[in-house]
Amino acid sequence: MKPDLFESPDYYMLDDLLSDEHKLVRNATRDWVKRAVSPIIEDYAQKAEFPSQIINGLAEIGAFGPYIPSTYGGAGLDQISYGLLMQEIERGDSGVRSTASVQSSLVMYPIFAYGTEDQRKKYLPKLASGEFMGSFGLTEPNHGSNPGGMETKFKDMGDHYLLNGAKLWISNAPFADIAVVWAKNEEGRIHGLIVERGMEGFSTPETHNKWSLRASATGELIFDDVKVPKENLLPGKNGLGAPLGCLDSARYGIAWGAIGAAMDCYDTALRYAKERTQFGKPIAAFQLQQKKLAEMITEITKAQLLAYRLGQLKNEGKATTAQISMAKRNNVEMALKIAREARQILGGMGITGEYSIMRHMMNLESVVTYEGTHDIHLLITGADITGIQAFK
Ligand SMILES: Cc1cc2nc3c(=O)[nH]c(=O)nc-3n(C[C@H](O)[C@H](O)[C@H](O)COP(=O)(O)OP(=O)(O)OC[C@H]3O[C@@H](n4cnc5c(N)ncnc54)[C@H](O)[C@@H]3O)c2cc1C
Repeated sequence: MKPDLFESPDYYMLDDLLSDEHKLVRNATRDWVKRAVSPIIEDYAQKAEFPSQIINGLAEIGAFGPYIPSTYGGAGLDQISYGLLMQEIERGDSGVRSTASVQSSLVMYPIFAYGTEDQRKKYLPKLASGEFMGSFGLTEPNHGSNPGGMETKFKDMGDHYLLNGAKLWISNAPFADIAVVWAKNEEGRIHGLIVERGMEGFSTPETHNKWSLRASATGELIFDDVKVPKENLLPGKNGLGAPLGCLDSARYGIAWGAIGAAMDCYDTALRYAKERTQFGKPIAAFQLQQKKLAEMITEITKAQLLAYRLGQLKNEGKATTAQISMAKRNNVEMALKIAREARQILGGMGITGEYSIMRHMMNLESVVTYEGTHDIHLLITGADITGIQAFK
């Protein structure tokens, strides 16, 4: 792969809106990605392997629990710093950002928000340092967009719970030490349970043959009469709103992360277009290529403004689920379109692993589907503005 020469596009001088802390976090993450992710990521994506050696680095830059208070080992940052972290990590690779998102928003967040003080103390510092890695089990073979129909269930056996069922498409599952699993009790109410690797009857087979997010490990969570200690139930919130609350936080991070992937594709295409000569001129001199590049920077700038404002609303505790859906949907589609256009600017070279664009493009095909599909987010916006749900 070519050396990482990334220069961040900032057409509307958004840096002026960032605090010193935001810039510090952003720059430290950008440097780390150049040093630790860019040189190895293509190789790991080609091998379809998660680069586990970056776990310590991710923990050091504060990517595990950026907004979790420092008393529990988190970085104690605000939501805009969290967003910038996700942007810079996804600039390197969406799969690496997925690992960080799951750990922070889907494992640490529910333990922090819905867990007991004992659970927080037991798990959060280890998750923040990367000593423990986590996964989040919501999706099932028969229930993706409709998680409320889940079949995974647990029974109260007096001194423990007995868990049965299966989860599919679970990021980090093959190597995670713990899983936050959503399952129904005997009354059909959804609860979160912390399941630990090593519990009898719990297995995590890997899902192979992915053409997308190849540097992120995906797998199943299978529960065959798993005895879960009663103290592993998250008591703070139950019902479908509990897992959906975690998804709000992760989707917000994706809205920023997708900008990173788009920025990398744009920056690569711009540099290539200025260097590559055809018909005696750099291809950047042709109007058709300028149209592509001009539209890319316009869309990136709009996405940056959307994410920044959403970050302000999140900091104030005012961001709604529907607002987060809109930003996730818009920014991921924006990034996917830019990746496809940028790939064309590189001609044949665009399909090789010499450049990051094709990898971003394939990764974004998962990002547009997970954490709520493109369609589902549109329906969330539709329901919000009309007051009428069109899901069923
Ligand atoms: C790489 C990867 C990693 C993932 N990681 C995790 C994870 O860590 N944890 C986890 O729990 N899940 C994870 N997922 C699962 C992901 O969230 C689901 O794939 C997603 O929610 C969609 O579910 P599905 O694949 O079952 O598609 P389906 O729900 O079957 O949808 C198929 C199609 O039908 C459309 N559709 C569905 N319902 C409607 C409707 N009412 N109206 C109109 N169209 C509709 C969808 O938009 C989609 O286009 C991951 C997925 C991938 C690909």
